[in-house]
Amino acid sequence: MKINDILNQNRLSLSFEVFPPKTETAFESVKAAVEEIAKLKPAFMSVTYGAGGGTSKYTLDIAKSLKDRYSVPTLAHLTCVSSSRETVAQKIREIQAYGIKNVMALRGDIPKELEDADRSGWDYRHAVDLVKELKAADRDFCIGGACYPEVHPESKDQEEDIRHLKEKVEAGCDFLTTQMFFDNNLLYDFLRKIRRAGITVPIIPGIMPITNANQIERAIHLSGSYVPPQFKSLVDRFAGDPAAMKQAGIAYATNQIIDLYENGIKNVHVYSMNKPDVAEKIRANLCDILG
Ligand code: FAD
Repeated sequence: MKINDILNQNRLSLSFEVFPPKTETAFESVKAAVEEIAKLKPAFMSVTYGAGGGTSKYTLDIAKSLKDRYSVPTLAHLTCVSSSRETVAQKIREIQAYGIKNVMALRGDIPKELEDADRSGWDYRHAVDLVKELKAADRDFCIGGACYPEVHPESKDQEEDIRHLKEKVEAGCDFLTTQMFFDNNLLYDFLRKIRRAGITVPIIPGIMPITNANQIERAIHLSGSYVPPQFKSLVDRFAGDPAAMKQAGIAYATNQIIDLYENGIKNVHVYSMNKPDVAEKIRANLCDILG
């Protein structure tokens, strides 16, 4: 099933993100965790992709297993920045052969050692290049793209970021998923701005339940997200008590989702990070709202 056919229902729906193992040895344990999440019957599940392509085989294996064994619609991520045209073309053929219809088209982070390199000769410089290639390969692909309510760190300002986002959507994105955020007002402000700019595709907010104190530092380092005072005091209060921190982090994420729903948003993507217990608790907290 295509993601854009799922996005127009009236009730709240949740989707969950998982990531593939880095090594063959970890494959079975990751697969087991992912399958536990699939049993919660989310609207769809997305499977991330290692920017360098190292875990790419596992991304497709996990996505296929979710689709075939659990009938959960799957969204396979694909990055392009460290890849050649031949590698990406091969990957697209594999996605088609696996019967996967939904692809998240991403640039990927620029590897540290290449940050100052001359990029003019690169096969892919931005996600928009991959979106075009996917559309040309198969008009039937349902294509997602990433967007940044708090501006992508490489952008000069939000206006420039939204201009490039619009080009990416016009190249063929059917929907956009946001980077994590901890203050819903930033999302509402972003939505007003992109709608004014003429971006009309569905936006799926991404919510990251922070369940331990170390995770918040890493998440903020990666995303640059603003930490509102009430969230900061929650982390300060519970950082020394792992069980309480987990419960409080899940409650905070649940409240964010309820507020999004109150404000008219029907689809929320949860960065569940291969943690079935976290996905299960969020689902349980919202069971009467989800219906
Ligand atoms: P782009 O859309 O190319 O944007 C990157 C920057 O380039 C932005 O500043 C943008 O404004 C600018 N830009 C875009 N087009 C142009 C242009 N034509 N000219 C000049 N500037 C331009 N990473 C992974 O490695 N694997 C994953 O599975 C993964 N999943 C993700 C899922 C989501 C929902 C999100 C939000 C991020 C994910 N990432 C993943 C991280 C992502 O790869 C990085 O954030 C990366 O730095 C940018 O990717 P992008 O696709 O948004 O790039």
